[in-house]
Amino acid sequence: MLAGFILGCMQQIDDGAPSGDRALVLFSGGQDSTTCLAWALARYPHVETVGFYYGQRHAVEMECRQAVRAALSPLHANLGPDHVIDIAGGLAALGATALTSEAPIETAPGGLPTTFVPGRNLLFLTYAAALAWRRGLRRIIGGMCETDFSGYPDFRDDTVKAMQLALNLGMDRRFVVETPLMWIDKAATWALAADLGIAALVIEHTHTCYRGDRTHAHAWGRGCGTCPACRLRADGYAAWRDAVPA
Ligand code: ZN
Repeated sequence: MLAGFILGCMQQIDDGAPSGDRALVLFSGGQDSTTCLAWALARYPHVETVGFYYGQRHAVEMECRQAVRAALSPLHANLGPDHVIDIAGGLAALGATALTSEAPIETAPGGLPTTFVPGRNLLFLTYAAALAWRRGLRRIIGGMCETDFSGYPDFRDDTVKAMQLALNLGMDRRFVVETPLMWIDKAATWALAADLGIAALVIEHTHTCYRGDRTHAHAWGRGCGTCPACRLRADGYAAWRDAVPA
């Protein structure tokens, strides 16, 4: 028990984790942001969550957010308040995408998927930083990932680093934007969730499916099983399970 406690402390130090920093997690209720939330809860003494209503075509994500928080809350006294920011009007005025309308999910002529919402993650980070400024939160944590990304340019490490610099200059703060999933694939994200003790919670409560399907249950969670987000999640789960020693 004591050895485990000491090891836990050493791991915290090895991770470069600090300190008394308070954190804000960009939290959608999906697998990646839920893993980021558990990661932050293991490191920081106070963790708040922020979600965005951007006119997504399915409300199921927003419902899953509350289910995940309800499951984590009894285990983590450091889980602070949740915030939801409505930016639907602004994004809707800029035009439809496959995440905000019934447009088909496919690759557009320019090479980007039709699920790309231009500027969405830049807006998320800007709103999150404005909230963090007011709440006195220094660490801003998001599930952006360059390994398995769908080609979203605002998920790139360079984009996130550039945003951190812009936000710090523009708000006169020293925010640290952290992306624990940036260089790992979906199988490794599953392994991280297992290490954090939330694999079952991810399967039961998180939502990733682009079609908003919660009626089909699989070993890896609920979803249609055929959209790009479901396939990525299912393939990652299979690769993770294959790698786990029997
Ligand atoms: Zn799906």
